[in-house]
This record gives sequence, structure tokens and C-alpha cells, in this order.
Amino acid sequence: MTTPKCGALVVGAGPGGTAVLGGLLEQQLGKIAWVDPSFESGRVNRKYREVPRWVQSSERSFKVSGSITNSYINSNTTVKLFQTYSTVWESFRTVVENTPQPNAFTVLDKLDPNKTCRLHYAADMVRDLTDGLVKRDDVLPCRGFVTAASLIDKTPDSPKWMVRVKQDDSSDELEIEASRIVLCTGSHPTKTPLPVSGLDIETLDLDLVLKPSLLAESLPSDEPITIAVVGASHSAILALLNFVELASTSHPQLRVKWFTRHALRYAEYMDGWILRDNTGLKGHAAEFARAELEDDKLATSPAGKIITKIDCSGGPDRETAQYHAQLPDCSYFCAAVGFTKDPLPHLTKDGAPLNMEFDHETGRFHERGSDSVVPGLFGAGIAFPERVVDPYGNVELAVGFFKFMKFLKRVIPSWTGA
Ligand SMILES: Cc1cc2nc3c(=O)[nH]c(=O)nc-3n(C[C@H](O)[C@H](O)[C@H](O)COP(=O)(O)OP(=O)(O)OC[C@H]3O[C@@H](n4cnc5c(N)ncnc54)[C@H](O)[C@@H]3O)c2cc1C
Repeated sequence: MTTPKCGALVVGAGPGGTAVLGGLLEQQLGKIAWVDPSFESGRVNRKYREVPRWVQSSERSFKVSGSITNSYINSNTTVKLFQTYSTVWESFRTVVENTPQPNAFTVLDKLDPNKTCRLHYAADMVRDLTDGLVKRDDVLPCRGFVTAASLIDKTPDSPKWMVRVKQDDSSDELEIEASRIVLCTGSHPTKTPLPVSGLDIETLDLDLVLKPSLLAESLPSDEPITIAVVGASHSAILALLNFVELASTSHPQLRVKWFTRHALRYAEYMDGWILRDNTGLKGHAAEFARAELEDDKLATSPAGKIITKIDCSGGPDRETAQYHAQLPDCSYFCAAVGFTKDPLPHLTKDGAPLNMEFDHETGRFHERGSDSVVPGLFGAGIAFPERVVDPYGNVELAVGFFKFMKFLKRVIPSWTGA
């Protein structure tokens, strides 16, 4: 088989890779290869369909002490942002126009643009975009996994990469030559060992905890169980919320010990910008935390009947002492302490592995310890986000569908010399 030659190759078809593909198509680089094992909107579809959006209002069915409360929350970020994502590029707009209705775009259009939605709406939107994009003549979709890529021509203005793809439907590896590679390979919840060794405690994967339908089946409902939850991030608060909902419905004997080092931190809406836009609690999680988890609320809140806060502030010695005192009572352990990049393909130059670091300003990679740019190699999505600085000088990494888009609109023209 002859080696396909492409203007670019995008690794990954999550929201990050899909946004990149749309941006590259705008640059008219010829054929663009797009590689992903499933082309089903990445992790947001596989793992987080049941997660309420971070940043918008949502509803919660919450039954404690015999009553059901539904909370509806408004925030400044809206369903409108998913709609904006779906129409940023010309190629996306063409898909939206040509997809038979009803489709994920028309479903989004029926939601209140100023409110939140569950993430499955966003996942379905990316999937419908994907289904349309893979049909284009200038896109070469490859169902499989990029295992390796070597830089075979280092000319800064016209580099060439030889990329190896392990195909899903064949034992043969496919080779594709590409002038540019964009890594949009995603991230997974950071794994952390049990802080106290020798205890008989089962670790719960954060992805499982964020999927209430599976979580309910994975835990016994007819015996007392105590779950240790570690962290105070957005994911940690969603985990607490899911456990509280289980305890108040199908798992009445479930209790939580919540190990946290610091006070809850919220995004704050300032004059035209958001303080802690990427690290603070927002929307549904913020509302729950403010109403039920703050120290002055927990003692009397419905969540406080389920959750005991274990204060781990004050340094490593105190934290270790808290774990030794409290963890032996727990039957399960769930750490929500961040996300780690998924493994990258084996990248080489002159036969040697590339030791590189990402430049969060430009989306390019440098060889570690030097200013030397790795030609034709780029990154985007949750694994390679933009670094942003707010008016107070706080530095954050910008993660989210719309934020990926904003970054790409700025940097893609420079990737292609446009
Ligand atoms: C719990 C949670 C909730 C979130 N909620 C929101 C939200 O409400 N709003 C928002 O805007 N953002 C949200 N985000 C942030 C972000 O938008 C998502 O994490 C999003 O899924 C990131 O997209 P991605 O394309 O970078 O990565 P992924 O979705 O992980 O996609 C990566 C893709 O690359 C593929 N891949 C990996 N390696 C290879 C390889 N070697 N070869 C081929 N394919 C490969 C994977 O199979 C996958 O399909 C949330 C994140 C989390 C964790």
C-alpha cells in the first residue's frame, strides 16, 4: 500500500481534536489525516455523559430526610458556548446545515441557551460534528491508535513526519506521512496510592464515581460502607454530590469521610472576567458547596448527614496523622486530585526519543532545555491547554470546549504560516 501523504495529522477525536481539525481545514492544507480508536467524542462521551456541566445552571434531585429538593442554578456561562463551539469553523457550519434533523444541534437549540445541560448534550454535538467531518474528501479518518511518529525531515518550514498507526480492523500498521502532527490525546484522573499501607480498602476510579448509574451498581446497598474522598477540586465536589445522592436514594447506609487540605475555592465573576476561571468551583458544584459543604453549613445541611469533613490543613505531619486515624474506618477510597496526560505516541528525531516540553503560549513543543522548536509538532485539548494570566496576575491552564477554540483561533494560523 502506498503511504498517504497529508498536510497534517490530528491525533485524537475528542472535543480538542475535533476543534483542531476544523481549524486546520480552514487553512486548506490538502488532505488531513484524523486518527482515533472510536471517533465518539473522546472521554466526555465515554466517561462523563452523566456529569452536569461545570459552569452553568443545572438541576439536582436530592432526597434526604424524606424530602426531594430540586435546585436550579444560573451562571454566566451557558449552553450557548456549546452552540458557539459547533459553529466556529466553516467546516462545522457545513456539517450543522447538512446533518438530517433532528440532530444533536437541534436538540441543543431546544435547551435554554442561558442554562446548563448535562454533558451528554455536548458529547452528542461533537459526535454529530465528527460524523459529518469524516465524510469530507479532504479528511482521511483512520480508526486506530497512533503508536509512533518520527521526524524524517527537520527543515523548519517544511518538516515531515512518518506516523505509524495501529489500525482497529487490521493487524498491519499503517504509515502516514504528514507535514504537521497535532497531539490532542486527552487526560485521565490522576491515580494516587492509599496514604496508609496495609489497609483492606478498595480504590474507586474517579471516572466510575462520576458516572452515577455505574457507581450505584458497584457499591453494596445493604450494608454500612464508608467512602474516603480526597480533594476539594471541581471533580471532588461532583464525587461528593454523587455519593450524597446515592446515600439519599438507593444506598442509605453509605457515609463519606472527606479529606481536604484547604478551604473551598470558587470562581468569582468580576467586571468582564472571571477570577479562578479554571480552578474555582462553578455552577452546580459551587452552588452545592456553598449551600451544604462550607463549615458553617455542613453541621446542619442534608449533605452533612452523610459527609464528615476531615481537615488535613496544617502540613504533611497533620495530614498523615489524619489519614492514620480516619482511613482504617473506610471501605473505599476515591482520590479526586487532578488529571494526568494520557501516554503519548513514541516520538523520535534522528532515531532518538524526543525529550520535549509544551509551550502553552504557542501550542508548539520545544526540545527540553533548549529554545529549539520541534518542527511540525503541536498540541491542544485538555492535555495541552493554553496558559492564561488574569488581571490579578494569577496563572491558569484554560480547559474547556470553548477555551480550546479560543486558543486554536489564535495559534493555528501561526502553525501553518498563514
Ligand atoms: C469530569 C469533567 C467534566 C468536564 N466538564 C466540562 C464542561 O462542562 N465544559 C467544558 O467545556 N469542558 C469540560 N471538561 C473539560 C474538557 O472539555 C474535557 O475534558 C474534554 O473531554 C477534553 O477533550 P480532549 O479532546 O482534549 O480529550 P479527550 O476527550 O480525552 O479525547 C482524547 C481522544 O484522543 C484519543 N487518543 C489518545 N491517544 C491516542 C493515540 N495515540 N492515537 C489515537 N487516538 C488517541 C482518545 O481515545 C480520545 O478519543 C470536563 C472535564 C472533566 C474531566
